[in-house]
Amino acid sequence: MNKQAIIQAEADYVLHTYNRPDIVFSHGEGMYLYDSDGNQYLDFTSGIAVTSLGHSDPDWVTAVTQQAAQLTHVSNLFHTAPQAQLAQKLVQNSFADKVFFCNSGAEANEAALKFARKVGKSHHEDKTKIVAFSGGFHGRTMGSLSATYKAQYREPFAPLVPGVTFLPFNDLPAAQAAIDDDTCAVIVEPIQGEGGVNPATAEFLQGLRAACNAHHALLIFDEVQCGLGRTGTLWAYQPFGVSPDIMTLAKPLAGGLPIGAALVTQAVAEVIQPGDHGSTFAAGPLVCAAANVVFDKINQQPFLQAVQENGAYLKHRLQTLELEQIVDVRGQGLLLGVALNQPAAPIMAAARAKGLLILTAGDDVLRLAPPLIVSKGEIDTAVTTIAACLEESS
Ligand SMILES: *Cc1c(COP(=O)(O)O)cnc(C)c1O
Repeated sequence: MNKQAIIQAEADYVLHTYNRPDIVFSHGEGMYLYDSDGNQYLDFTSGIAVTSLGHSDPDWVTAVTQQAAQLTHVSNLFHTAPQAQLAQKLVQNSFADKVFFCNSGAEANEAALKFARKVGKSHHEDKTKIVAFSGGFHGRTMGSLSATYKAQYREPFAPLVPGVTFLPFNDLPAAQAAIDDDTCAVIVEPIQGEGGVNPATAEFLQGLRAACNAHHALLIFDEVQCGLGRTGTLWAYQPFGVSPDIMTLAKPLAGGLPIGAALVTQAVAEVIQPGDHGSTFAAGPLVCAAANVVFDKINQQPFLQAVQENGAYLKHRLQTLELEQIVDVRGQGLLLGVALNQPAAPIMAAARAKGLLILTAGDDVLRLAPPLIVSKGEIDTAVTTIAACLEESS
């Protein structure tokens, strides 16, 4: 199929839920993607914070290739080694005592909310309320969508799951007033991704922890986007000095293959019984072989140190551009937002035309989430390109 035939077939046969530019990608290597016309693009999207090791990491390719030739799928009716190994790594390197596997971020939050409801009901029957926050994004399934803030995503599909209250993000007094004995869960991203790259304050997360403790509610950290090294620590929650009862993961965990995980404490695990939740595909040998490579490479102090250094360098370069179009630079590690005084989408398109792929987060925020292997030279190239696009836009 040539480029035009591919674009036409998509228009004819794929349900129109995305607006895509007229680019067909054919392959990737490291920090770069290549299209069907042979153009090279510097990738500061990582497929939305997924391909943290870059494209076609050789160790990842070897693991996936060997595992595909050996065993891909048996379902969760049986034991397999890669899943057991991955579970051990996640639990031994986090607050958690057990992990539930699924296939995506939305499913991970779906699991977290189901577990919270069952734990809540083990206290009393009406302990079902869920607290979520403005700007929060938790996925597109009915349960996860119910806790996702953007009305445009939710309203066409109402009625959704009842019992969710939205409160202003980083407003601790509002949360303290709302969290009560009927609250079963509070769900929050330590650093909001889609909502505009908004970090929580330490005071806010610590206050949520205290309020949840006081009312026996579960604190759920959605680290689907910000977790697993992206912010320069293994988990985004670590610098806040607070740990959750449940943490959800997905995007980068298998380096591009579909996986999700809900990590839970022993207290949560004790309430969940065989048959309470499940998945046909989840954490099969292929996806777990991939995830084991991703986890082992990211969970190294020099790797995380480089994310911190390069993230700080990227942030500093952006902060010192002194362009009137930039009103704020925020975020942590290699998850950064550049708030503009103008719409972000035209800048994203202009950067693409110059061979740089970036994301937006909301209407007026550019989001940068390069593979975690990015170098200072590539950061310089990206910053120069973004600056040129902003200068040309005014
Ligand atoms: C992307 C995202 C989700 C949803 O993940 P999917 O794999 O698209 O279902 C949930 N939470 C956060 C914070 C995300 O960034």
